[in-house]
Amino acid sequence: MKNITRRTIVTFFLAAILLAGTGFFVGKLFLNGDSWVSLSANTHIYSGGVLKSGTVMDRDGEVLAASNQGNWTFNDNVTTRRALLHTVGTPRGVISTGAITKFAGKLAGYNLITGAKHLGTAGNNLYLTVDADICRTAYKALGNYKGTVGVYNYKTGEIVCLVSTPTFDPSNPPSIQEDDPNYEGVYVNRFLSSKFIPGSTFKLVTLYAALEEIPDIQNRTFHCDGSVQIGDQIITCTGVHGDLTLEQALNVSCNCAFGQIAEMIGGKKLAKYTQATGLTNNYSVNGITTRASSFNFDSKDSGDIAWAGVGQGKDLVNPCAMMVYMGAIANGGKTAVPQIISKVTLPGGLKTSIYLNKKTEPLITEEAAGIVAQYMKSNVVNNYGESRFPGLDIYGKTGTAQVDSAEVSNSWFAGFIRNENAPYAFVVYAEGGGSGVSTAAAIANTVLQSAVANAPQE
Ligand SMILES: [Zn+2]
Repeated sequence: MKNITRRTIVTFFLAAILLAGTGFFVGKLFLNGDSWVSLSANTHIYSGGVLKSGTVMDRDGEVLAASNQGNWTFNDNVTTRRALLHTVGTPRGVISTGAITKFAGKLAGYNLITGAKHLGTAGNNLYLTVDADICRTAYKALGNYKGTVGVYNYKTGEIVCLVSTPTFDPSNPPSIQEDDPNYEGVYVNRFLSSKFIPGSTFKLVTLYAALEEIPDIQNRTFHCDGSVQIGDQIITCTGVHGDLTLEQALNVSCNCAFGQIAEMIGGKKLAKYTQATGLTNNYSVNGITTRASSFNFDSKDSGDIAWAGVGQGKDLVNPCAMMVYMGAIANGGKTAVPQIISKVTLPGGLKTSIYLNKKTEPLITEEAAGIVAQYMKSNVVNNYGESRFPGLDIYGKTGTAQVDSAEVSNSWFAGFIRNENAPYAFVVYAEGGGSGVSTAAAIANTVLQSAVANAPQE
């Protein structure tokens, strides 16, 4: 009798393990089926390492790339092909974050119910959120600069513009030598997968920390003699700014003022607020993981903390995360998580899945977001000039980031516009572009004019 009881217990125990294992597998299948089916060893959907079927389109249905039994053809227009290279990818997968690689399962026609059964036919239509028109404009506006432009809707999460340069024509790929400076980092999507010294755009994070941690900060005044000693270091400024309010210090992007503010806040709290803004997050853009920004606020030398607070030193920021923080300021704290897939349909037009718009955690308090936004508007009105952005209700911050090894600095402009049909946050980064206001802000204006003109009308 004792033996039977023991066997029963053992059997129950084994059954429980089996059940748990099955549940685990089904769960995994649900979450990862898409990427398992797209493993390049799956001959249902690949032939000679090339995806057999599927069509990639922009949000308006303009065909960007399509496969017919593994023969991939791209959009007729060379500018479109170059502008969208990093978003669309290539048949051989040299751009690891490209749609052809990353969404192979969706393109091939995989779904949970029928699995890979009817794969290898026409494949699915993958509609991206990007607008080819805006991307072409951004690519042309970047000119010869290496860099990136990202624009997204902070209400819905749709990325309407994503361009990374240098680029090439996927219809006619050049043979690229590894050390060719013209193609430095050509296979990397600079928007999603890189991080760069942010320069003064980071002052929008230091400003947030200051508003929260130093109660009377808005009533204090600061003084700039062109440089100031903090800790063991001399913090240099771009000018001799004299006496400044906090708002004026942001308008002229005074390093002396913001270095002193960073010192007052301290490394530990700066680290805490930087994390709160989401800059150090790895976002998942429909399953594409972005690169996290990185910082070092641990130094014992307050001079290092001052440099970190003005966006120099060891600060490295991912452009996508910066754009999301801009969305959070625009939206009063929470913002939409960026998305690149609009919808997937069967060849007949039937939708196969829905993409719900997701919100981030609050990346800034509502009150601070209001003040930061007001100061970003004041930057435009009092410093950059509204005439640079005709017709746009724009809020922004420039950055001119110095890199020790380079003679010319890198140009940034990040911010957002208020517009009912086009609630867009943006980031522009141009390597070697010099002043943020003359290069990156000009590119931003060109792109945003196109984004507003192309916005869906309600
Ligand atoms: Zn100054």
